[in-house]
Amino acid sequence: MKYVDEYRQPHLVRNLSEALHKITTKPWTIMEVCGGQTHSIMKYGLHELLPKKIRLIHGPGCPVCVTPIHLIDHALHIAAEPNTILCSFGDMLRVPGTHTDLLTMKARGSDVRIIHSPLETVKIAEKNPNKQVVLFAVGFETTAPANAMAVYQAKQLGLKNFSLLASHVLVPPALQFILQSPGNEVQGFLAAGHVCTITGYSQYHALASNYQTPIVVTGFEPVDILQGLYLCVQQLENNEYCVMNQYARSVKEPGNVHTQNILQIVFKTVDRQWRGIGVIASSGLGLQDEYAGYDAATRFPIEKPLLFIDNGCISGLVLQGKKKPGECPLFGKQCTPENPLGAPMVSTEGACSAYYQYSKLKLA
Ligand code: SF4
Repeated sequence: MKYVDEYRQPHLVRNLSEALHKITTKPWTIMEVCGGQTHSIMKYGLHELLPKKIRLIHGPGCPVCVTPIHLIDHALHIAAEPNTILCSFGDMLRVPGTHTDLLTMKARGSDVRIIHSPLETVKIAEKNPNKQVVLFAVGFETTAPANAMAVYQAKQLGLKNFSLLASHVLVPPALQFILQSPGNEVQGFLAAGHVCTITGYSQYHALASNYQTPIVVTGFEPVDILQGLYLCVQQLENNEYCVMNQYARSVKEPGNVHTQNILQIVFKTVDRQWRGIGVIASSGLGLQDEYAGYDAATRFPIEKPLLFIDNGCISGLVLQGKKKPGECPLFGKQCTPENPLGAPMVSTEGACSAYYQYSKLKLA
């Protein structure tokens, strides 16, 4: 398959691995931002092809993982309302809230539906005028445009029974938060190629130069990741700190201007809480004032957030790259994909699930 197979060629992988060994003279710690990249690294064993001096740590780029527990509780609260249909992508259904998850609610009779496109939710609202239809919308800049389009279309159609429970987060503020954190060890980033396909990468220039941290926009196949690492290490070895674009087959510096426009029409930048991390200023998207009537959080207010129950999950540290999944005492024992205690073990982009699926750690 074009643009896939050619980036999995064993001889290219071998060449890049050898090239990395040649140029690496000092220890470097590099974070791959996206959970999709983490899964590729673990699936193809790329970490085993790197010089010992390169340490990879896994970033917060798993949308399901960073959705705060109070929002999952809010979705559970909405799903329990009569005459309500809650729609979400499949991953979210198994993420534990304080007491239960959406899949359990569905099994108990709540109308919780798995969708494949946010626009399906608009159709469901049209077909069910006597029910409230809520789209539980999570994710980074990649998923936000389609959710924005659903709200935009609902407004155009004059739908009064559609609303959005939004938990959208933005990548650049999270990278800045990591770089500013006390004890930060990240010296270079592989930025998420699909996010930059939407946003472009002009906003990364200031981060790279202010924090003297190279940022390489990188794809998801083995050759992409090794080439991204090569460009990052090459800069570090030469004391250079700029933004480079490894994923040029998809990403242009200005990004996709049309999707940026729909985002700006429907959403505005807001402070956002990240699960296990806390509030990061200007790191999320909320509805613009003229779309405020579509906010499910105000349409279905929750009186008092549930008390936080500490189940031992250290996902906040995993998402900041401060701990690896195997360092969690619950990994592969009490916490497995069949019985997840935290979102990183559920999501297809979660670091804990990547380690469980592909790493020998699961045998521990
Ligand atoms: S292994 Fe499970 S409990 Fe531990 S950090 Fe990952 S999701 Fe949380």
